[in-house]
Amino acid sequence: MKNKNNYCVLLIKQTKHLLVIAVLLVVIQSCSKTTQLQSCWNKQADTTDKNLITFFFKEELNKLGHNFEPWEKTKYSIIGNIWVNQNRFLKLDTLTINSKAKYYSKIEYSKNTLLHLDYGNKELSSITNDIYLKQLIKSARYTPVYLLNHFVENSNKLDINTGVINNVYSINIGKIPVKLFINKSTNLIDKITYLTYDELYGDVITSYLYLSYKKSKTLSYPSKIEIKKINGKVVDKVEIFRLNTTADKIQLLDKPDNYKLIASKKNGKIKVKTEKFNDFIYFINLVHTEDKIMVVEFEDFMLVAEAPLNSKNGELIISEVKKIAPLKPIKYFVFGHHHPHYLGGIRAFVHKEATVLCTNISKEYVEYIAKAPHTIQPDSLQFEPKKLKTKTIQDSFIIGKENQLNIYFIGAKSEHTKDYLIYYFPKEKLLFQDDLCWIPKEGSIGKANARQRGLYNSIKELKLNVKTIIQSWPVESHKVKTIIPFQDLEKSIK
Ligand SMILES: [Zn+2]
Repeated sequence: MKNKNNYCVLLIKQTKHLLVIAVLLVVIQSCSKTTQLQSCWNKQADTTDKNLITFFFKEELNKLGHNFEPWEKTKYSIIGNIWVNQNRFLKLDTLTINSKAKYYSKIEYSKNTLLHLDYGNKELSSITNDIYLKQLIKSARYTPVYLLNHFVENSNKLDINTGVINNVYSINIGKIPVKLFINKSTNLIDKITYLTYDELYGDVITSYLYLSYKKSKTLSYPSKIEIKKINGKVVDKVEIFRLNTTADKIQLLDKPDNYKLIASKKNGKIKVKTEKFNDFIYFINLVHTEDKIMVVEFEDFMLVAEAPLNSKNGELIISEVKKIAPLKPIKYFVFGHHHPHYLGGIRAFVHKEATVLCTNISKEYVEYIAKAPHTIQPDSLQFEPKKLKTKTIQDSFIIGKENQLNIYFIGAKSEHTKDYLIYYFPKEKLLFQDDLCWIPKEGSIGKANARQRGLYNSIKELKLNVKTIIQSWPVESHKVKTIIPFQDLEKSIK
């Protein structure tokens, strides 16, 4: 019995020892990880607050926008200067468009202050709290100094994970999760990533890859930075030259006396108005996005053309369609071209298992958007995934017999996008289209622009007998007609 007791005491003692060793190991490991963060700071960001690290940069900036094809980018060239230490980040740069027009911008960033003079502006931009916090991350497009300092200052809030090559340090800046990947053998930053939400593309990871490290007198710095946006679909490139230090005497902008951050913008009021055009054609006016949505009622199903910007608007349109015909399913969803004002709400229709009518040009784009995870702001399709159904239109697609709708592919003839579709009702002599016709509400009709000529030529080529054109966007802001007599278009051509 005594022996057994002794054995127990020994076991407890040993277990205690093992526990202490385990705790010590964890402490040592986490210490070595925070020491690694510190040693990374020493290598890449160590400067006194009397000095600024400074360098030149060259940047290739690519932006998605209202272009001819899905994923087509507009390219901008930027050159500039950066000054940075643990307290301040300053940027002065020149942006060139089409190797001609030049615009300047300035940024001064410090604790609680972001002064930003944007390209072509004469006054400082108004800054919300979200924009202010995002700038902390965006400074790392050029240099890790300011952001790395934030990680060191908040080292008690970091989540640390060990991988094969990197230790990964994570923190939330505002609501944005940011990860710092520090190389275990060099103690230099390999990569910084952050996760944001995009209403069209869903959960979006942006990565800054730090490449081709060089050494100045005191610091290591990446001479090349690759910025992968929208999960790598768009890539920007930055090159860094002549890193040096200088006395902290630089001031690019004056802080206004009444300077303060403004509240983040709330979404505007949602306003919807449905109009009945005739027995089977309806228009839903989304006042808050300035879009006219077309709804067509056929014998035993509905068709919806256009859904702007996001899934919420898609859901809103669906609830309006249900008021028009509660029992008929939405069989088809169609968008006139791939810009966000016409396809942004597509996921709501995929969730309702509507067949998406599109062209071969935009099919892959539709697939990407339908598959994109939306975990940050889940929509109906995220909660309940459904398989995407598409039908591609080559030249035309005719729906209905008694009430007939013909959809025509005019593509690049629109002079706007390669995937353009227009909608024609032969019996009604009515043509619906997205954004090709720009006839002023008041005053004389000017000479047709390229899009208008594109529309006119397409109508003539297809031999359509059009009396009235209805346009989807814009309804109010540009002071142009949304219901256009065909003669108006003709006048602008002749
Ligand atoms: Zn457009």
